[in-house]
Amino acid sequence: MELNSMTQKKLKEIINDYGEKSFRAEQIFRYFHQHDGEDILEIGQIPLDLRKRISLEYTVNKIKVLHKFESKVDGTVKYLFLLPDGNIIESVVMSYSHGYSQCISTQVGCKMGCSFCASTKGGLVRNLTAAEMANQVYEAEKDLGIRISNIVLMGSGEPLDNYDNVVDFFAIINSKLGRNISLRNITLSTCGIVPEIYKLAEENLPITLSISLHSPFDEKREEIMPIARKHKLKELMEALRYYIDKTNRRITFEYTLIKGTNDSEKEAREISRLLDGMLAHVNLIPLNPISEYKEGRPDRDHVLSFQSMLKKFGVATTVRREMGGDISASCGQLRRSVLDEEK
Ligand code: SF4
Repeated sequence: MELNSMTQKKLKEIINDYGEKSFRAEQIFRYFHQHDGEDILEIGQIPLDLRKRISLEYTVNKIKVLHKFESKVDGTVKYLFLLPDGNIIESVVMSYSHGYSQCISTQVGCKMGCSFCASTKGGLVRNLTAAEMANQVYEAEKDLGIRISNIVLMGSGEPLDNYDNVVDFFAIINSKLGRNISLRNITLSTCGIVPEIYKLAEENLPITLSISLHSPFDEKREEIMPIARKHKLKELMEALRYYIDKTNRRITFEYTLIKGTNDSEKEAREISRLLDGMLAHVNLIPLNPISEYKEGRPDRDHVLSFQSMLKKFGVATTVRREMGGDISASCGQLRRSVLDEEK
């Protein structure tokens, strides 16, 4: 088991089981999450015999920068990280006026099968541990000499398909003994797994929940994202209304605009009907084409006219600023191209 995947609470239990006082758990937590330590035997404040005992039972997760790509257009940096078992994941750091935001992966690959997404083409390989999520942040910070202020779980993987590790990651990254990143600065993006949305509502975390909508019609949505066959829009919207009631947080809807598929007035009207009276915001994303998905990307004028229609129908909406277009920065593209090259 990975010691740096443990929340403070779990570390305390482990340390108490060794017959030691709880403050030892805080020392260990700080070592990993404030000081970026990587070796149990080097935690100087802990008695050597305890360090030795722990190191026999626990491991420490370390990831390494395998490749780094920097955009010449807007300074976006994309990393391919090498995991201890040889798998590769990607992560993107974007610079905004309010600070640095990082989009991290939560799984190696993904089983959700969204048609436009490169991350899912090889299926799900495995879940990432909480430490592997945190280490993406620590490694990028170290490499760039910066502090990350915002985190988006929107890289490879479906975060709610890796629920427990994702919730542990939130506790770790938010801890005052670690990076202390506010949960309000964290966005979890999901394709809409209904039972987990109810579960997350009970945690009552002030994160932003972001839902991949992509179509307000079940039939079309099922074509774009197969998971929608399992969780119909009616069921999803009920879960989201429950989530808002519990957390009082606004939901963001991601809407990838695909030319001639989901970008007409009919869709704009239906989105407004679907979100009527809901604390919601729609983020429009013009399709980023990948080789396996041949649909087109609407031009800028059409994107803006779709946005105007939504506004006219009373839907709060923005068009997502695209970052790192010259370095294949969208979901899974870079990992895929490296895997293809290796083949
Ligand atoms: S868009 Fe997200 S949920 Fe869908 S296949 Fe890609 S990584 Fe998975």
